[in-house]
Amino acid sequence: MELHALGLSEVYRQGKPAISFELFPPKTDGGMESLFEHLKELARCKPAFIPCTYGAGGSPRERTLEVLRSVRASHPHIPIGSHLTCVGSTRDDWRGYIRRAIAAGVDRIVALRGDPPQGETAFQPVEDGLSHAEELVRLLRASYPELGVIVAGYPETHPAAPSLAKDLEYLKRKVDAGADAVVTQLFYDNGDYFRFRDRCADAGITVPIVPGLLPVTNLAQIKRITGMCGAHLTQKLVRRLEVHGDDDEGQFSVGVYHAARQAEELIEQGAPGIHFYVLNKSRAAALICRALALFTPVE
Ligand code: FAD
Repeated sequence: MELHALGLSEVYRQGKPAISFELFPPKTDGGMESLFEHLKELARCKPAFIPCTYGAGGSPRERTLEVLRSVRASHPHIPIGSHLTCVGSTRDDWRGYIRRAIAAGVDRIVALRGDPPQGETAFQPVEDGLSHAEELVRLLRASYPELGVIVAGYPETHPAAPSLAKDLEYLKRKVDAGADAVVTQLFYDNGDYFRFRDRCADAGITVPIVPGLLPVTNLAQIKRITGMCGAHLTQKLVRRLEVHGDDDEGQFSVGVYHAARQAEELIEQGAPGIHFYVLNKSRAAALICRALALFTPVE
């Protein structure tokens, strides 16, 4: 069956893992060109859908739609999804954006609160804005029931959550508000995902919990990223990466090997798919998809 004809929750119930590749809007025209070179390789992996981040790292929102329109133009068979955050927008702003997104072919939304702007510690909604992703899910469900909705989940608990139990309670509220699936924050120890999945099941969260993987390609970069999002690197992984010193290719091999093993075990243990944070580079994610035969190559 064509993926386009499937609702989001069905995509994760096809009996084979659904692969998604998360892009972000490049800041420059050169970055955009390079992204579309990489996209050719990712498209060969027959992704279930390709989403693009929204406002992350201060990127302009219209750039998200620009990326998605270009993905649609170059790969019309691949479903596209837009991330959407509560940052700095009123309800009317979202409605306008969502209308443009639907016109661009978007049929799934990753509904997020977003992070406070740089230099601020607490999230402050604007007037007539929203405070939590849960409210955004409600707005989407009330006005755009045809859209598939994904929310974020945190195997190692969201860094600002008052407690693990509260974080799970809020996740349940997001799902009860109408989310079709949860995509997790990146993690490097599958035990964190399995424990999270069990806690979700115990809490009555029954939608697919899709693991998010970011293959490490550079130790310094991944230390920065995990420091920001509160994920931890395993000691074994760090030791292996350190062995390679400044050898980028060596670090890349370790990162691909680790993520491939993670993906293999996750799928064997019933994960409904893998969401790759590809950071606009195709090589690591495409190698993993090929090594594990996670796709049918298009010849
Ligand atoms: P929420 O679910 O609203 O939770 C935020 C915090 O508030 C948590 O600590 C939670 O425990 C608490 N909370 C939730 N609901 C309530 C409530 N009702 N009352 C009180 N407290 C509550 N950021 C971007 O800017 N752009 C992106 O495109 C982007 N994409 C992402 C994709 C994925 C898959 C993930 C995992 C994260 C992404 N992020 C993105 C980062 C995300 O915006 C941050 O992690 C943000 O801090 C939390 O967003 P959330 O949707 O999980 O928020």
